[in-house]
Amino acid sequence: MSFSQQQIKNWQQKYPLLTKITDFQPVFWLNPKLQPLSEAGTLRASYEEMQEAENLWHRFAPFLAASFPETAAAGGIIESPLKEIGNTKKSLENTYGVKVPGKLFLKCDNELAVAGSIKARGGFYEVLHYAEQLAIDNGMITKQDNYSKFASDEFRDFFSQYSIGVGSTGNLGLSIGIISAKLGFSVSVYMSADAKAWKKELLRAKGAIVHEFEGDFGEAILEGRQQTKENPKAYFVDDENSKHLFLGYSTAAFRVKKQLDELNIQVDADNPLVVYLPCGVGGSPGGITFGLKQIYGDAVHCFYVEPTHSPSVLVGLMTGEKEKVCVQDFGIDNLTEGDGLAVGRPSSFASSISEKLISGIYTLEDEDLFRLLAILADGDGIFVEPSAASSLLGPVELSKTQYFSERGLDAEKATHISWSTGGALVPEEQMQEMYQRGRNALE
Ligand SMILES: *Cc1c(COP(=O)(O)O)cnc(C)c1O
Repeated sequence: MSFSQQQIKNWQQKYPLLTKITDFQPVFWLNPKLQPLSEAGTLRASYEEMQEAENLWHRFAPFLAASFPETAAAGGIIESPLKEIGNTKKSLENTYGVKVPGKLFLKCDNELAVAGSIKARGGFYEVLHYAEQLAIDNGMITKQDNYSKFASDEFRDFFSQYSIGVGSTGNLGLSIGIISAKLGFSVSVYMSADAKAWKKELLRAKGAIVHEFEGDFGEAILEGRQQTKENPKAYFVDDENSKHLFLGYSTAAFRVKKQLDELNIQVDADNPLVVYLPCGVGGSPGGITFGLKQIYGDAVHCFYVEPTHSPSVLVGLMTGEKEKVCVQDFGIDNLTEGDGLAVGRPSSFASSISEKLISGIYTLEDEDLFRLLAILADGDGIFVEPSAASSLLGPVELSKTQYFSERGLDAEKATHISWSTGGALVPEEQMQEMYQRGRNALE
């Protein structure tokens, strides 16, 4: 579906910020539909489902530990550290000329084992869930068994009859490709034109079949979905509408809770937790927001971040049309160096939940992605990909507003978490180039 010029004009009148958005100017948007959790009504996911998802991760831990030795030390639980980044905070304050009260942490999903990005949560989870279902349906395993069996030749031979398909800008394909190939599935990844060449090469090296498209992410998904559907023994991981991806992401909340407890960080009505999440289709930030809300209720405030050239969830939520609109409807080109965020149309599953639970969305220009990448590298020695660096601007943007004082909150008591969504697999040479670009932009 596409919208008439008149409709777009009506929206621009109703939502003045939309004109800035279509002019590619950065904006900070507060969500007028945010509900207190107690009034959010029934959502399309529940706490019980999130708990079940966490149980699945534990069942598969022996398999993961056996198949990916880098996860063995953590007992096969794939999790990332939460690090305070004090130097980066100072440097952000100096660069952007604003004081950021409270503490700033980085959730280092850029270090997540095996997939090197947040997709190790959602992507791995959905494939493991499918594999478990097949194995149970075929009488090969029960939930009480030791899942290291999934690493056996018998299981690999069995899964080799089945195919998995996925459309991706890069990281989702990497995560699905790696885990599916390890289990023995035949896996096809439909890549958009903006997917980086090194991601395609790495996938091929892991045994995935890579299909390349001229178009963007939406087209790659469409093609992948169609081709996968034609095969009765194939399963399509649908990033535009997947509850499994969402639940896989949500379990991060249990782990963050544990990490904050270990750091003795209090989160309650007077001590807000503010989380900044890079947003593509909205699945990973949606799942994590949902999970954190289940644990911290209204004491957690979640903001998404999108590039000025790919504000898909922003236009979807602002107009209320969600997955029915794409950025191209507004003359926005969906071209950005934040390849994990280069998504034109929001996820329908995640958007209905995000609509009620997120505090807002801010957008930023590509050059800031590189500046932030360099600030973090110089400040705390952590190298992340441009998409991930976008979350670092959140505390700066929020501190320019009256967000805390308007809510009767003391900004000094806030804990900020910028969610660093990817980076570990970026080749050294590419990382150096991106870092240099950021350094130059900072001069
Ligand atoms: C996929 C991805 C995101 C966004 O996740 P969505 O589920 O698409 O919203 C953010 N950062 C990186 C690095 C990613 O790969």
